[in-house]
Amino acid sequence: MWIDSHCHLEADDFSVQTESGPVDAREAVVRRARQAGVTRFVVIGSGCSEREAHNAVALACRDAEMFAAVGVHPHDASAVVSSKPAQHGKPQLLGEALWNDIAALGKHPRVVAVGETGLDYHYNHSSPEEQVTLLRRFVKLAQQVEKPLVLHIREAHTQAMEIIRSEGGSPQGGVVHCFTGGPREAESWLSLGFAISLSGIVTFKSATVIQEAAKQIPKGRLLLETDCPYLAPIPLRGKRNEPAFLVHTAAFVARIRSETLDELSAHTRAATCQVFGLPASNPDAHGGSVPLENAE
Ligand SMILES: [Zn+2]
Ligand SMILES: [Zn+2]
Repeated sequence: MWIDSHCHLEADDFSVQTESGPVDAREAVVRRARQAGVTRFVVIGSGCSEREAHNAVALACRDAEMFAAVGVHPHDASAVVSSKPAQHGKPQLLGEALWNDIAALGKHPRVVAVGETGLDYHYNHSSPEEQVTLLRRFVKLAQQVEKPLVLHIREAHTQAMEIIRSEGGSPQGGVVHCFTGGPREAESWLSLGFAISLSGIVTFKSATVIQEAAKQIPKGRLLLETDCPYLAPIPLRGKRNEPAFLVHTAAFVARIRSETLDELSAHTRAATCQVFGLPASNPDAHGGSVPLENAE
């Protein structure tokens, strides 16, 4: 059994457009995941508008094995900091109204983490200054609501660590998701109290540096994720990713770490529960129905 520690089931990608309107594909997606042995999900509501965060919480409210995180992606930092929607964003709320909405959701009992937040200097969809300002606010928010941080860091590891340290750290820890650094960056994040999560990127041929890091991350500090709908692992690269595909990343990581699937599953599951404070599994407890804002 596996946990997808970072998936975007809240995203519109899982609401398929048909001639008679949008059809919610999530039920089938989650069924395929469970058939593949992926039984728990941390749904990251941090898209280009507040809607994704509300959708993530709604999903977590109606399925006991789904948990939510809420944040604003670094790509979209300009929406909060400069009241200016990022290029792919259509937020209804901007500026302080967007911030207040997300910050209030951070206290929701089904929200297990704050994020994703961070710095992405590869794309710079929002300016570095906007990203830094928003990351500082989210570090403070995580301290206030006493929840771990989900970090998205690309080509900005050193600066992100400096910011987190200067804001007083992350007392509840957290995870650097979709890790794209090498062994040195991994070691620094581990010593700052963060776990490391690997996505399908680790299976790519070009990802030798990430693979070196993956071999060295100690048991108990390593998580697995799909980051779906993006970044499907080999051999499914290019497809719309979904939680069921986690097993391909898991098989690859088990092989390079010289572990059995059972060993990897046991320690990554324990690490995910520890990072997010997840309760003991209760697979019978589904129920309730909370409408999603993009699946009406
Ligand atoms: Zn991310
Ligand atoms: Zn993500």
